[in-house]
Amino acid sequence: MSSLSVAPWIAAQAKVLLAQRGHAWLLAGPSGLGQYSLALALAQAWLCEKPTPQGACGTCGSCHAIEVRTHADLCVLMPETVMLELGWPLSEKAQAEVDDKKRKASKEIRVDAMRDAVEFSQRTSARGRGKAVLVFPAERMNNITANALLKTLEEPPGDVKFILATEAAHQLLPTIRSRCLGHTLQWPDARASLAWLEGQGVPVAEAPVILKAAGGRPEDALQFSPNTGPAGRTAQAWVKLPKAMAQGDVSLLKDWSPAQVVDALHKLCHDMLAVKVGAQARFFEAADLPGGGTLATLTAWSKALAATARTVEHPFNAGLMLESLVSQAQNALNSKQARTP
Ligand SMILES: [Zn+2]
Repeated sequence: MSSLSVAPWIAAQAKVLLAQRGHAWLLAGPSGLGQYSLALALAQAWLCEKPTPQGACGTCGSCHAIEVRTHADLCVLMPETVMLELGWPLSEKAQAEVDDKKRKASKEIRVDAMRDAVEFSQRTSARGRGKAVLVFPAERMNNITANALLKTLEEPPGDVKFILATEAAHQLLPTIRSRCLGHTLQWPDARASLAWLEGQGVPVAEAPVILKAAGGRPEDALQFSPNTGPAGRTAQAWVKLPKAMAQGDVSLLKDWSPAQVVDALHKLCHDMLAVKVGAQARFFEAADLPGGGTLATLTAWSKALAATARTVEHPFNAGLMLESLVSQAQNALNSKQARTP
């Protein structure tokens, strides 16, 4: 990623943070606001050979090494699943274990990876501009890895900077939080978000739909684009979703993951309840919402969805789960007020 492709609201925040000193930063805030992009922009600027107050130059050898994911002075500490998703190479040992099917790619930041990072921070810089350790999502450290990082943060070896990015700062050890300078990601305004989405190739008519679907978070919105998200999770599907659920139509969601289905139903339920009490729909257009549903059944549905969300990563049978979720939605959306005798 060159500094030039960073979204304008990320670039503006990078400029502010680069003007400050600090060897450890914690970037926090809800998902989809660009913690990872900002963390990478900062690391790239720190290591750049010709940095400006705006950030990295995007063209020097160091910037290029980051772009091709082989910078000797940048250590990314992430769960293996996230590394694969974001195009970072695993360590040779880890890659071999995953290739040989000895184990699956880890969803946590592994102790081995933390050990490598601690060792990395004690080495001398290869390019002579210091080193950076990027931890994302920082809440995926367990107690052992978090304590190992804490020790390094407490006694930082000279020329290394740390940047932790998280979507759940409350899950971090308070001692880690207090060792870092904190920055809360800023919410971009709708106009800048829409312009950015269009710049990413999202058609003008679809950008507002998917931005709404993602609750106003532009990076999350890209997951509703056929280019970057799963098949069938599109702006068109989002518009049709409320009525399809009222009709019990499962086919619309057949390519979505269980977590995506639960998320979408939660948003639908939220908007149905909002409209019932005279508030604004947030994720859908009010005109696209079905007319039925009582306050009591919608509230019960919301509770049931919250319970499902806790176990959704490991469904017993994804197909059955989808059918039961859709039938639950259909019942709630078609419930009518009992007639008083
Ligand atoms: Zn550069």
